Amino acid sequence: MSEFALIERIRQRAAVRADVVLGIGDDAALLQPSAGEQLVVTTDTLNAGVHFPDETLPADLGWKALAVNLSDLAAMGARARWCTLAMSLPRVDEAWLDGFTEGFFALADVHDVVLVGGDTTHGPLSITVTAFGEVPAGSALRRDGARSGDDIWVTGAPGEAAAALALWQRGELDVTLPSDDVRDEHLRHRLLRPLPRLDAGRRLVGLASACADVSDGLLADLGHICARSGLGARLEMAALPCSPVLAARFDDGQALPWIAAGGDDYELCFTAAPNLRDDVLRAMEFAGVSVTRIGRMVLGGDVVVLDPQGRPWQSGRAGYEHFSG
Ligand code: ADP
Ligand code: MG
Repeated sequence: MSEFALIERIRQRAAVRADVVLGIGDDAALLQPSAGEQLVVTTDTLNAGVHFPDETLPADLGWKALAVNLSDLAAMGARARWCTLAMSLPRVDEAWLDGFTEGFFALADVHDVVLVGGDTTHGPLSITVTAFGEVPAGSALRRDGARSGDDIWVTGAPGEAAAALALWQRGELDVTLPSDDVRDEHLRHRLLRPLPRLDAGRRLVGLASACADVSDGLLADLGHICARSGLGARLEMAALPCSPVLAARFDDGQALPWIAAGGDDYELCFTAAPNLRDDVLRAMEFAGVSVTRIGRMVLGGDVVVLDPQGRPWQSGRAGYEHFSG
């Protein structure tokens, strides 16, 4: 299969929509943004062996490459609109490409995201997606808007993706096969098929004072909100949400570091004024995600987790960082 045939195969699968004046096939795409909206742009790369196990199925990789980008749009409170796809491939393999596009477009279709271009090169397996969204001018959820005294919230069940990764690294979970154990199958899905919280993010516009998605780990990503807002955070260890699956499968000592510092969950961590608690709970209920209040923003610069005795707890690792030796 030639590069041209590969691009043609992708083009045939890409959706058409009126706001895509010119899509795949020209030197560049022409997009028609909506009146009164700001463009929200984000890009993320997945490299084989770094961001996903080498044996990851192409369909899971296609899904995740888009999901991690849509999660960034969710964290901004944006609506997802368009994306581009740059792929570096060791070989052109039709079956691999069909699997990849199946996963990629399954998620794109759910969120009505149109693929409008990309690039295809020969090299080690690496996938870069750029996603474009829109948000009403001036209403994006930023990291720098938290105030001292704001509640800190997190959606869903952080730690499950890290648990799946740990099981895989121990040789107890095959990322390429459905597991017979329903709990392990749930964890496998959480690692391979993250659900970007786009609806939740949009419903937090006007409620959240700051927001970030949890890609590097809850404490690390909350740390980014703290740094950008010039504040610190106090978290209650006992308030951190431990999902039923984590609780049933592992003891607390094992699960806690994953919940606090595990990456790859793509939940939303956000802050909101305490008088908005009921509104936050209602908004997340409409979005269909659980949400947990885990602490509050304080003066100072640290993220501190207090154990049940009120002593600061050390998680040992603060989240994933590239180039950290
Ligand atoms: P150029 O040489 O002008 O960069 P390319 O041959 O790289 O053109 O791409 C031709 C067209 O196909 C462009 O519209 C480009 O956006 C699109 N394209 C290339 N690779 C991909 C891909 N992996 N996914 C989607 N569109 C792609
Ligand atoms: Mg090109």
